[in-house]
Amino acid sequence: MKGRKVSGIARDTLDFILEASRSSMPHEFAGLLQAGKGVITEVLILPGTESSRMSALVRLYMLPNVHVVGSIHSHPSSHLRYSKEDLIFFTRTGDYHIIAGPPFDRTSWVCYDAMGARRDLPVLDVKFKDDGFDDLEFDDVDFDDKEAGP
Ligand code: ZN
Repeated sequence: MKGRKVSGIARDTLDFILEASRSSMPHEFAGLLQAGKGVITEVLILPGTESSRMSALVRLYMLPNVHVVGSIHSHPSSHLRYSKEDLIFFTRTGDYHIIAGPPFDRTSWVCYDAMGARRDLPVLDVKFKDDGFDDLEFDDVDFDDKEAGP
């Protein structure tokens, strides 16, 4: 699960995350990110608190074919810095960790690596076919840094 190369996140997936974070307010939204063909396209939703997140992880890793490349969680405050608990979670769940904060638009999130360093996560325009991400079709892959986090 570690070291899996990810070229970006699908724009629809990012929009889903931001919408879910917004509608979870004032509570946290948390999930694990899965990638197909190197693009993050799936979100496994987890309970929102730090302790419930950890116990959900234990259960998830007993499932076959769950390839987690990272995580997403929201901070109901606009503070986008990870906590000590977040960092412990990051080191166990891949190498791409999004924290989103209000107003949950396309600029109000950041991505960290497993060690807590900021990293770029390009937002990609991909088309989803009916069969899911095995047939992911690259429509217009633009590495649009303008819409990446600050
Ligand atoms: Zn946090």
